[in-house]
Formats: sequence, structure tokens, C-alpha cells
Amino acid sequence: MPAPRTKSVSSSRRTTEIAAQPAGKTASATSKTAGNSTAAKLEDKLIRLGLRTDMDKVLHLPARYEDETQLCRISDAGMRAGHPVQVEGVVTSCEVAFRPRRQLIVTIADDSGPLTMRFLNFYGSQVKQLAEGNRVRARGEVRHGFFGAEMVHPSYKMVNQDAPLPDALTPVYPAGEGLSQTLLRKTIATAMSRIVWDDTLPEAMRTSLDLMPFEPAVRLLHNPPPDVDESALIDRSHDAWVRVKFDELLAQQLSMKRAQDARREKGAPALKKIGALSKAFLAQLPFKLTAAQQRVLAEIREDVQQSFPMQRLLQGDVGSGKTVVSALAAAQAIDSGYQAVLMAPTEILADQHFRKIAGWMEPLGIRVVWLTGSLKKKEKVDAKALIESGEAQLIIGTHALIQEDVQFSKLGLVIVDEQHRFGVGQRLTLRNKGAAAGASKKPVATVPHQLMMSATPIPRTLAMTYYADLEVSVIDELPPGRTPIVTRVIDQNRRDEVIERVHAAALEGRQIYWVCPLIEESEALQLQTATDTHATLSAALPDLRVGLVHGRMKPAEKQAVMDGFSRGEIHLLVATTVIEVGVDVPNASLMVIEHAERFGLSQLHQLRGRVGRGSAASVCLLLYQSPLGQIAKQRLAIMRESTDGFEIARRDLELRGPGEFLGARQSGQAMLRFADLETDQWLVERARDAAQRLLRHDPAAVDAHLARWLGAREEYLKV
Ligand code: ADP
Ligand code: MG
Repeated sequence: MPAPRTKSVSSSRRTTEIAAQPAGKTASATSKTAGNSTAAKLEDKLIRLGLRTDMDKVLHLPARYEDETQLCRISDAGMRAGHPVQVEGVVTSCEVAFRPRRQLIVTIADDSGPLTMRFLNFYGSQVKQLAEGNRVRARGEVRHGFFGAEMVHPSYKMVNQDAPLPDALTPVYPAGEGLSQTLLRKTIATAMSRIVWDDTLPEAMRTSLDLMPFEPAVRLLHNPPPDVDESALIDRSHDAWVRVKFDELLAQQLSMKRAQDARREKGAPALKKIGALSKAFLAQLPFKLTAAQQRVLAEIREDVQQSFPMQRLLQGDVGSGKTVVSALAAAQAIDSGYQAVLMAPTEILADQHFRKIAGWMEPLGIRVVWLTGSLKKKEKVDAKALIESGEAQLIIGTHALIQEDVQFSKLGLVIVDEQHRFGVGQRLTLRNKGAAAGASKKPVATVPHQLMMSATPIPRTLAMTYYADLEVSVIDELPPGRTPIVTRVIDQNRRDEVIERVHAAALEGRQIYWVCPLIEESEALQLQTATDTHATLSAALPDLRVGLVHGRMKPAEKQAVMDGFSRGEIHLLVATTVIEVGVDVPNASLMVIEHAERFGLSQLHQLRGRVGRGSAASVCLLLYQSPLGQIAKQRLAIMRESTDGFEIARRDLELRGPGEFLGARQSGQAMLRFADLETDQWLVERARDAAQRLLRHDPAAVDAHLARWLGAREEYLKV
């Protein structure tokens, strides 16, 4: 998330954020002499913020600035309602009150009058620190509350009489848990004293672009001088910010270009033929492709005809029909004499793909082979032999495709379904399987084309930021005839009513999923809960057939249950998140999700996508455990209000910020911290031109610049 851009926008947030780290902790953490273990702990915390090298620390720039240069008389403070002010006074009383709830109430006074500071969360150490007679400097918004003029959760520090005020804006850094501003400032100052401040931009380029030199720009951002243009600093339009943003965008452009060039230098089989199979396949489909499917298919068809590898992400909401598009891409590979492989994250999903796609392709004479970890030894050996000889034209499976010692004969296309469920390394391994086959015969390494699919949409700008070199196709339309899903958010203590509703639905001939709560800390506990839920629901609904499916069942057992559900023999299916992705049983039209507040939004969206697949109107009931926090409430409201995965992702992103949204596992680290692809578009263009010039004329500068800005992050961006 970009930092708030204006003083007024940020004012209300900043008070709470600062107050969230009690000042008492700050003071004690810095006063301790750092022993070895404290140093190691600090190191850990810094690494969690992505700060490894001195340069990383130097480039950890303030998220915003606070004006602590002025003191406001307490009697005047109330007139500045809605704006944070800084006051200073001596504590006249400090007590813990218990009504209306437990809180710390501190009164301070200067010669103009008293002010109450109220803390709803506080540490014992704060009570001592704020003892009567001590002098405190506090910052916050004054309100007229229960106790007269008051500041709720101000940020504050203890000061001596006549302690000087800072003469410049105070930087506030993005901090992780347990990292105080004081500590960060010290760490950054030390790093600044150690690094070599060379400029990675050639001087001529820097002056022609009218950019500030690197060192003064960075120093200014960390230590703004008293006479700085404050509003430019705060809204990030200051020349110093422009320089930093330019550098960051340049690094992004350079790494994208490098990754792209590296990809284009590799060979890939040109899948030129859209032949008999592709045509017959289309002709026998029981439906017509949507316009969006046709468009993305055209994009993919074009790409895989090139002799360098495609790297494309196919995004489309749950149920938008990505599978058939990928099968058509596979058909093109097979038409062109190559193998295609489709990897899915779960056995259930792989099995479902296998049945569906084999059902489409086998009648057309195509050999489809299935490989998962659950196959018997002999079956595996047979499957691998078919893959290695090239008799297997389309291979569908799970992680086993990577783990087992599988050799492809002529791999032309790799399809990864639900790609966000795989790690970067897993995707690379599968792609490299194809590379090994061609490498020995040809001078250029060849790798297969890669098509990744995901229903967890990443906004395009974000995708470009996180994946340096990736084309994106979007299916933005659902097949016709779907009925929208109605979502209700219900308190967990109304579970009995929900069970009745499930009963009524089953009597109407509808099928129901009951999703058990996610228990991240313990898989054992999660299984226990699933088994218990199955037992209680079976007892409560004796006239229904209740099934159970979870991750620890043997694949054959799982399959038997899923088959029973597909055939309508099971009315109610109690499940863990194993059914999260891809499962397609159109007659299921009611879903209950317990403890919905524990799931991520994209996960809820995926789960909910299991219903609404047939013609019956579908309902999803999200049960939650009260009380819910503010964010949790908003997140469930998003689920109730929208069934559009893109919209949900956008709002989730707003609520949580990109790091959490994407998860470190798949994203590596966010690359753009300072620039904003939308508001800084003009800089993006300059950075693009500069990148081209540097790549052509000054490869050493390119290396230096990338090392400074990306360091270890670059590897992630290539995948
Ligand atoms: P997802 O994009 O979530 O992977 P699927 O590929 O599983 O979605 O497709 C969902 C369902 O829609 C499948 O049953 C599929 O056969 C069907 N389907 C796909 N495309 C169309 C279409 N153009 N018209 C009608 N049904 C379609
Ligand atoms: Mg799918």
C-alpha cells in the first residue's frame, strides 16, 4: 500500500498506528544494552522486514513524516479538532479505571490547563512511566469526550523540562512487530555511515533527466532539513522522492527486460499446427466458447506458435471455463506432434480434469495418461514408460509429475492449474523437465511453453509488479445460464437453524457442502473437527446420507466419496478445504462454511465457487464466531456483497496491502515500494527509455543498479 499521501488523510491513521506500539516498550528496548541474543533477534526482525544488507536498510525510506517541531498550548489544542497536535505537560494524576471498562487515565497540565490521555490497552510499565510529576510530550487529536478534553491513545514520550524540539519533520518508518521507530532510526543511521554512496546512474543520464544525485536525495528523505518543502515531502512529489521512485522503476524495467531477453534467447517448440484434433475437439464440445474464452484462446494460440517459450497467466473467475481453454492449447501441442502436461494441486482436482478431458479427447484417439502419487507401483511404472516413449500425448496429474522420476519424450506445453497453490520452485522444476529433453540435441536450450491458470485474480498492475516477465490473459465473462449465489453471514450460535435449513434443502433434492473450520495450527485438530462434525450432523440428520472427505483419506476412499456425491447418493458432504479448488458437482446448491472468519477471502471465494454451477439458485451460508473484529466484519461483508472474484480481490488488496494479499511464498518481495504505477506513469515512461539506453550502452551500470535495488529478489521475478 502506498503511504497516505496527504497530511489530512494520514492524520487519523497515524495516531492509532503510533499508539499501537506503547511508548514504554520503545524506551525500554533502546535503553537495554544489546547482548548477543538481542542483536540476533533484532537481525531476525529486520530480515522479516526484508532488510538484510546495509543498502536494504538505507533504502528503507519513511512511510510518512510527523511534524513535532511545534508545541501547542493545551487550552488551544481543542480548537484544532481533527488535526493532530503536540502538547507538553506534567502528569497530575495517573490511575487505572475499571468503568466503563478497564483503562488507563492520565491527566497532564501545562500553564494553560489540563488534558486527559486515555489508553484502552496499556502495559504495567506505562503506569510507572506516567507517574505524577513526570513530564510528557504527547501527540494526537484532541476530542471532547467522557473526561472533557482528551486524547485517546496518543503517541507520547517522556521528556525533561526544556528538552529541545526537533527542528525538522520526523520520519516514520514502516515497522514490523517489536521494532520501534527509535531502533529503526539507529539501524538506518549506522547503515548510512557504512555504505558506499556511488550513483548507479551515469552522470550524463542523470543530468539530462534532471534528477537529484542519489546520496543527497536519500539523505534528505531520512533527515529532512528544517527548510524542506513539507507538503512535497509528504505527498512524495519532492525531487528526492522523484529520484528514488525513478531508481525503483528503472530497476523494475531492467529486470523485466533482462528476464524477457533471457526467455527469448531460449528456444521452444513452435506449435504451429491447429489441426484435426483441435477442430474435432471444438466441434464435439457440448457448448459454444464464450467471447472471452475465444479471445484468450487466440492469444495463447499465437504465443505457442513462436519459437521462444510462452509464459502466460490465464486468469478467470471460478467457473469461467479455464479448463477447456487449456485443453484446446494442449490440442494444439498434440496436433503439432508434441506432448502436453497438466498439473493440478490436488488429487481430487487432477482426477476431475482427467475424467473430463479424457472424456473429450480419448474418443478422438488421443492417449491421455494419469500420474499421481496414489497409483500403485506397477501403474506408475507403466505410466512413466508411456510418457517416456511419447505414446502418452496428454499427461494429467499432481505434484507426482515433479517428484517422480518422469522423463518426457517431447514436451511442448506445460499447464499449471491453480498456480498460486504451487511454489515458484515447483513450477520451475516441471518446466525444466522439458528443457532436459531438448538440450542435448540443440545448441540453444529449449523449454516448453508455460500456461498458468488461476482463479485468484491479481490486478494487472500488481501482476506486472510481482512477476517481471509474464503475459496475462483474462476471461472476464462467465458462461451463460449461471444463477448468482446468494451469500448470508450468520452467527455461529444459530447453527441449529442452519442444520434445519440443510435438512429442508436436502428434502427438496438439493445437495449440500458443509465446510469445516480451518485450523491452521494443527492438522490433527482439523481432522478431529471434521470427524466430529460428520458425527454430529449424521446424528442430527438421521434421514440424510452424510459423507465425509478430508485430506488424510486414502485417494481411493476420497474418490469413492466424491463419486457418491457426484452421483447424488450422498446428500450432505462434510469436507475440509480439500474441496477448495476446481471440484465441479453442478447439483450442489447449498454451502455452509463454519468459522468463515478464519479463511482468506480468495479461499472463501473458491469454496463458494463449488455451488452455483447448475441451474438451481444457490446459497452460501458463512457462519462466524462473534465477536468479530472490524476488519473481519468488513471482509465477510465483501463476501456477502460480491460474487465477482476480481472485485473481491481488489477489495481484499485494499484492506490488507499487497504483501499479505499475495503471500511471500508466491510473490517473493514486493518490488515497488515507493512508485505508484498509476500516479507516476510519467516516470514509468522515462524509466523505460532509460532502461533501454542502459541495456544497450552500459551493462555495468545495469548490474550495479539491479544489485542495489533487487539483490536476492531478482530470482523470484524470473519465474
Ligand atoms: P474454472 O475456470 O473455474 O476452472 P471450469 O473450467 O471448471 O472453470 O468450468 C466450469 C464449468 O463450466 C465446467 O463444467 C465447464 O465444462 C463449463 N463450461 C466451460 N466453458 C463453457 C461455455 N462456454 N459454456 C458453457 N459451459 C462451459
Ligand atoms: Mg479450474
